[in-house]
Amino acid sequence: MTLITNHLPTAELQALDAAHHLHPFTNGAELETKGARVITRAKGVTLTDSDGNNYLDAMAGLWCVNIGYGRDEPAEAAARQMRELPFYNTFFQTTHVPAIALAARLAELAPGDLNHVFFAGSGSEANDTNIRMVRTYWAQKGQPEKNIIISRKNAYHGSSMGSGSLGGMTFMHEQGGLPIPNIHHIDQPHWWSEGGDTSPEDFGLERARQLEQAIEDLGADRVAAFIAEPIQGAGGVVVPPATYWPEIQRICDEHGILLIADEVICGFGRTGSWFGSTTLDIRPHIMTVAKGLSSGYAPIGGSIVCDEVAEVINNCEFAHGYTYSGHPMACAVALENLRILDEEGIVDRVAQHSGPYLQQKWHGLVEHPLVGEAPIVGMMGSIALTPDAATRAKFAGNEGDVGLICREHCFQNGLVMRHVGDRMIISPPLVITDAEIDTLVERAWTALDLTHAQLKQDGLLKAAK
Ligand SMILES: *Cc1c(COP(=O)(O)O)cnc(C)c1O
Repeated sequence: MTLITNHLPTAELQALDAAHHLHPFTNGAELETKGARVITRAKGVTLTDSDGNNYLDAMAGLWCVNIGYGRDEPAEAAARQMRELPFYNTFFQTTHVPAIALAARLAELAPGDLNHVFFAGSGSEANDTNIRMVRTYWAQKGQPEKNIIISRKNAYHGSSMGSGSLGGMTFMHEQGGLPIPNIHHIDQPHWWSEGGDTSPEDFGLERARQLEQAIEDLGADRVAAFIAEPIQGAGGVVVPPATYWPEIQRICDEHGILLIADEVICGFGRTGSWFGSTTLDIRPHIMTVAKGLSSGYAPIGGSIVCDEVAEVINNCEFAHGYTYSGHPMACAVALENLRILDEEGIVDRVAQHSGPYLQQKWHGLVEHPLVGEAPIVGMMGSIALTPDAATRAKFAGNEGDVGLICREHCFQNGLVMRHVGDRMIISPPLVITDAEIDTLVERAWTALDLTHAQLKQDGLLKAAK
């Protein structure tokens, strides 16, 4: 194996990076002073940085490396495809074998009559497609006014103008003039932080019924679709109460609203089924996919669309598409990834073995004095950090300060675990072994101990009033 080991010293790489590379979701001033972590290679669940430090990557990159790092097969598939046909487009009545094969395979894997795929280069692009597709669908049916899309606060659907507007992250809306018109946000089913004295079951119903209220307020003749992640990812791995999704499904059915499940994280085995919609018993009209579709080995996303919507869209010329819609190399890599997930039984293993094993270990973290709850579904989980679990209290300082301290202790102890506010989240490669799960949870516990000690020492272990 050839490794790129002859790179510049870390400090020089960091200086060049800070001088010329604008990073997504990164504080530029900190880049100057601290320098970026330079990741040079990875294998399985382990990352190596430019100083030779190893980290257990409990985030699978950005929730995407489902088959783990360092597999040869997708690399071989990419090389083969690039030699045979590196690029051709799928516009204007043309197609090619990798796009045909991947669309057919996705139709086979997707539940119900989700039989049609519109390809994109990413999850953001796919959600932009969805906005235009559902509005075009209703316009084609003679209802152009039915163009409002309802989403949720603290949702993440991407960072382009359209998908960032669907998302409910206020700190994103504050930059660049988002949201675009006719996107409406309701509250999220986040019982731990917003449920107050209501039981989780009642709270799930209440939050779902906000959708019904919004449809009644806006008018069913104005609402095109509702979009949601089966389980919110970037919002903090928020597992909704069991009552939530059945009620959402009922409301969409009764009011004739299209349901879009954003499966960008939940898809391809993450929740123990091929799709989160299967795990949570949701029947969407459209699913957004990306990330685990290629395990991050190539940039690709798409919308998997039901028969009814596809038929209406096919009745017009949908003036939409990306140069790289159905890129041959990316399709070939995604097909190889799906083959590995299937033939190696990785999705079933999450459902039957590694998911339950991780869950049992993860739930053990609630014994730690800093931890309030530790929800997990399949291979996506979170823990709520709190000064007082009994009252689900928040910390007195700025939200996120404690999460950041914990994240730094994780890094120093060889674990990549992200924080969302004062919630720690994981989404490891699905191929993680039992021994690696043990290591993950041990390192998380150590980081929690160190965080606890530091909070005590700095006088930060106080509840907000
Ligand atoms: C990451 C993500 C997206 C955006 O995907 P990109 O490939 O980053 O554009 C959309 N939806 C969800 C749920 C995501 O987690």
